[in-house]
Amino acid sequence: MDFGDTPAEAAFRAEAQSWLEANAPAKGSPEAFNEMFNPGINAGREEEMAGRARAWQARLAADGWACLDWPTEHGGRGASTMEAIIFEEEQSRYGVVMSIFMAALDMAAPTLMAWGTDEQKRRFLDPIRRGEMVFAQLFSEPNAGSDLAGLQTRAVRDGDEFVVNGQKVWNSYAHLADWGILLARTDSDVPKHQGLTYFFVEMDTEGLEPRPLRQITGGAEFNETFFDDVRVPAENVIGGVNNGWAVAQTTLNSERAAVGAQSSRVDVPALVELARRKDQDGDPAVRQSLAEAWIRSEVLRYLGMRVYTALSQGTEIGPEASITKILAGDHIRDTSQTAMELLGPEAMLNDDSWVWQMVGHFAHKIGGGTPEIQRNVIGERILGLPREPRADKGVPFRDLKM
Ligand SMILES: Cc1cc2nc3c(=O)[nH]c(=O)nc-3n(C[C@H](O)[C@H](O)[C@H](O)COP(=O)(O)OP(=O)(O)OC[C@H]3O[C@@H](n4cnc5c(N)ncnc54)[C@H](O)[C@@H]3O)c2cc1C
Repeated sequence: MDFGDTPAEAAFRAEAQSWLEANAPAKGSPEAFNEMFNPGINAGREEEMAGRARAWQARLAADGWACLDWPTEHGGRGASTMEAIIFEEEQSRYGVVMSIFMAALDMAAPTLMAWGTDEQKRRFLDPIRRGEMVFAQLFSEPNAGSDLAGLQTRAVRDGDEFVVNGQKVWNSYAHLADWGILLARTDSDVPKHQGLTYFFVEMDTEGLEPRPLRQITGGAEFNETFFDDVRVPAENVIGGVNNGWAVAQTTLNSERAAVGAQSSRVDVPALVELARRKDQDGDPAVRQSLAEAWIRSEVLRYLGMRVYTALSQGTEIGPEASITKILAGDHIRDTSQTAMELLGPEAMLNDDSWVWQMVGHFAHKIGGGTPEIQRNVIGERILGLPREPRADKGVPFRDLKM
């Protein structure tokens, strides 16, 4: 199989390159907004970065480059999956990191496409594409991260609304978001996976309060989010009452693939350049590390294509996204480690993006599910190994000792 561009793809890549060259900010330029890898540099500037990302998404949409592979009825270009990958590859060479849109583009939108009613798709997909709706994922709780189905936030039906009470945590960009994707418990009399419902909730609803958590990097991307009698219209239920666990699987699989794809875009040519600058490109051990970094990045590229090919054939992203996520986490860790060895003491003096990548690599491994959980998914759903022993199987949620 030849993974090089076909003539049509090469022409598309050239068109994308020339549009990006004319419109996208260069990496490291004052207009760049690469917040993901530079939390230290961008600490306190989250709103400004969010504004730039919103403006960029609007620009992409206006010029026909946003959500390329979405169906045309939802404002996409109906482009092939390969064209969407090519555009992402080219865009990643610029000072543009769209992590603030991850929950909208890579979680809310695919979930809506799979589970939303026609009315919900009409209401949300086009504004998401145009960068008018930043979403936050409101899933994790103080007692429910890996064991997400154990969540305790309650949503109680009251006429045409649900009343939500509880607390979420680690909600990336919730303080900057317009909407949240919320998983809440609507039935405690059934086993824990069966009583959950998936909602879209407007972040400025009365009683809903995200409180930013200041991190050791100085940045504040995460929040604890409190719900105090928050009223959510029943029309904002996605995929049916008490069907939230199945709906959330679409979100989680897309999230793993997206986190994996984002983490896998480590700038290996920049690492080679660093080795040259430090005059260490002739060192056999350094050359070995550089070659390994290149091999990892190529393997990840092909794994990413596998995931997207499955998507283009109408199959949802499945457990294979867990493989990409584990490898991408290891890649970002090992590549940053090589950069630290090359930089030596300079690493401690510089606000270098490699340093922020090194301190931030744990986030990539944990966000979207820890490596241990991904290994459980692979063991159970790909290799067919026995499932983890579960004391809560078949037990109504209200009878569990939490
Ligand atoms: C960068 C980042 C962004 C995030 N963004 C969001 C967000 O926007 N919205 C949101 O809702 N959440 C978000 N999270 C939260 C994230 O989903 C959770 O941190 C993650 O699922 C782990 O849950 P936890 O922190 O409660 O750890 P725990 O579940 O308490 O896990 C602690 C340790 O125990 C291990 N462990 C737990 N269960 C098992 C098991 N069954 N088998 C083997 N090992 C196990 C874990 O692997 C881990 O090492 C984010 C986290 C990070 C780091």
